[in-house]
Amino acid sequence: MSPQKKLHEWYLIHKRDLPFRKKKQAYPIWISEVMLQQTRVNAMLPLYESFIKRFPNPETLAEAEEEEVLANWKGLGYYSRARNIRKAAIFLVQNYNGAFPKDLNLVLKLPGIGNYTARAILSIAYDLPLAVLDGNVKRVLSRYHGYTDNILGAKADNELQKKADEFLNKDHPGDHNQAMMELGATLCLPESPKCLLCPLSEFCFARIHQKTSEIPLRVKDKKQVVLNGEIFVLNHKNSILLLREPKMRFLKGMFHLPYGFIGEVPEETYEPSPFFLSLKESYKGKTPNPIGEFKHTITHHKMVFSVFSLSLESRNLVEGLTKKFGVESKWVTLSDLDTEFPSSLASKVKKILLYLES
Ligand code: SF4
Repeated sequence: MSPQKKLHEWYLIHKRDLPFRKKKQAYPIWISEVMLQQTRVNAMLPLYESFIKRFPNPETLAEAEEEEVLANWKGLGYYSRARNIRKAAIFLVQNYNGAFPKDLNLVLKLPGIGNYTARAILSIAYDLPLAVLDGNVKRVLSRYHGYTDNILGAKADNELQKKADEFLNKDHPGDHNQAMMELGATLCLPESPKCLLCPLSEFCFARIHQKTSEIPLRVKDKKQVVLNGEIFVLNHKNSILLLREPKMRFLKGMFHLPYGFIGEVPEETYEPSPFFLSLKESYKGKTPNPIGEFKHTITHHKMVFSVFSLSLESRNLVEGLTKKFGVESKWVTLSDLDTEFPSSLASKVKKILLYLES
């Protein structure tokens, strides 16, 4: 029996009973795949169920206000995904009557849909012969084929995509893709793969040559990341607002001045928090020009921050937003700023503020 057939038989027996796999429909598959990009299945399932209940098709999603879509995305984070899903739904409704085009290049033009998601939707919903390549599949393929180059290197994605395409089961491309991902998630684990249970074991290079701990090779090339940020000094009666926000890329668990990165960011984890975006929106038109600028470095990140200062007449708006987004806040004096916010960022802001006062 061919390895593809063995894998397919294994999948039919072991596949999980997941709601988005029940029907071969592009819309639920799309939503589930986007949600699964940063979230584990068990955590994502209740959020998926409620999202699909509220937005059962592209039409309902396209008609909804962005704020409502974001509210229904709560708990999944990385809100740009939700914004893109809504934009793509609008595009699908306007151009394809709400259906997904059965063409990889057309699907790739939709906002927020990359190669992996497009291939997953088209193969699972329409059985188009398109192999997917995610982290799990890369691990399975590199072990199976004995691919010993760095899988994080520049050429790896192209080379492994070719191997994925060649290995695809053309009779059942959707099942095959899901089987490869499931195999990577349940048996071909990064540490201690369960080769004895694996349907591919008799053909697998890494298993045969006892190289499962060496393959795949993952060598991170830490390129410098350049970021432009904004940092807000919000004053009320000689006190300055500090926040402690969940899930920040930097300054985790620390009270800090409200900040966010602007312009192009390398990935979603650098995006400004929903709190920061709402704060900026609320003070739109009232924020003066920056009072100063400074450079800051954290590991391989080179940052340039513009500092904005704004005197508030009341704390109501800010406190309403902190409640809404589950953000902790406190108000501190300028003299306490660098002890309450113990980072050289605070000292740099304080220096600018003291210079302006002098
Ligand atoms: S035999 Fe082992 S290393 Fe090879 S694909 Fe299966 S689980 Fe992975």
